[in-house]
Amino acid sequence: MAHRTVLVINSGSSSIKYQLIDPDTAESLANGLVERIGEDKGTIAHTYGGEKNTFSERIADHGAGLRRVIEICDEIGPDLASSGVVAVGHRVVQGGAYFATATAVDDDVLERITELIPLAPLHNPANVKGIEVARELLPDVPHVAVFDTAFFRGLPKAAATYALDREIARKLSIRRYGFHGTSHQYVSQAVAEMLGRTDLKQIVLHLGNGASASAVVGGHAIDTSMGLTPLEGLVMGTRSGDLDPAVVFHLRRVGGYDLDKIDDLLNKRSGLKGLCGNNDMREVHAMADSGDPEAQLALDVYAHRLRKYIGAYAAVMGGLDALTFTAGVGENDSQVRASACEGLGFLGVHLDAERNETRSKEARLISTDDSPVKVFVVPTNEELAIARQCVHLLEA
Ligand code: AMP
Repeated sequence: MAHRTVLVINSGSSSIKYQLIDPDTAESLANGLVERIGEDKGTIAHTYGGEKNTFSERIADHGAGLRRVIEICDEIGPDLASSGVVAVGHRVVQGGAYFATATAVDDDVLERITELIPLAPLHNPANVKGIEVARELLPDVPHVAVFDTAFFRGLPKAAATYALDREIARKLSIRRYGFHGTSHQYVSQAVAEMLGRTDLKQIVLHLGNGASASAVVGGHAIDTSMGLTPLEGLVMGTRSGDLDPAVVFHLRRVGGYDLDKIDDLLNKRSGLKGLCGNNDMREVHAMADSGDPEAQLALDVYAHRLRKYIGAYAAVMGGLDALTFTAGVGENDSQVRASACEGLGFLGVHLDAERNETRSKEARLISTDDSPVKVFVVPTNEELAIARQCVHLLEA
């Protein structure tokens, strides 16, 4: 087969992350990050052939940013025209009730993604922008939207439905959508392949700056911890995860905070950061090791929440075959993995301490040989997953 690549674009409110990737070999040919779009001084970091080039300049908007990326590819490489680009894959956060799979972008699809902005006001506008400018600048290749919610589109109603007034929930599209779906799907498929089984009951813990858990049976997600937005569920870097909704009323009525402040507080100043002042798990460990009681409490709350979800999802699935850790914390932090699994011997979860401590970039088993539940670390690769979904769609 001729060498082919997919340009994967993840467009944020003031940034564009991109990667040129070979979906067949998983090789990353180039990647980069455009940051501080619209500010006085923006930056572009572009890595190609193992070399990183950084540019500091004003980047007026997303269009200007992507145009510069294409110029930089021309100047430094890789030459996009001869790289066999067969598609541009766009990460889109919210696909709502519409999108259950990766979808080729046309004007109608773009309009639907735009319609979903009220459900994801922090993310979908930037995703729309990214698609618009990329279609303009790269008009000769198909553009594909890959949704963070798609893997959870088929959640059983019992898991997706909040116990709210049904009319209001329907009218306002309030339900559990779930996020990080591309990662949960990629990781759970990798585990199924490693075990050579398609009938697994799995829990995937995606623990990065954002964090989410999913319960996957036979390749289908049947529950997940993020809900209407990525705020629900696990303790995250800066997000609170689960709390009594009445905390919001209390903040409003007693604390006098307005809604925007509460939104900011729960999304950006809670989680690990709220608990101990730092959202980087490495720093939190360092603080706890030096005797900081707040950092220790943050770690305890984080692990407690994880164990609670593992138990809940084992109950929801009626068993558990595999438990997998992924993303920044999940892939690198043996202490978090150990504390998440602590006391779960009754479920059949037995970590092998030495395997858990061994550092590696590879997918690996970290449970004992006779552990009924297989525990894995699987590095996630959302860009590769997006690239593969693009070519899969184009081949269909
Ligand atoms: P992600 O969102 O998947 O890129 O994960 C980012 C987070 O991973 C960072 O905020 C860190 O808290 C965490 N992280 C990265 N490396 C390590 C490490 N070696 N140990 C613990 N946490 C880590």
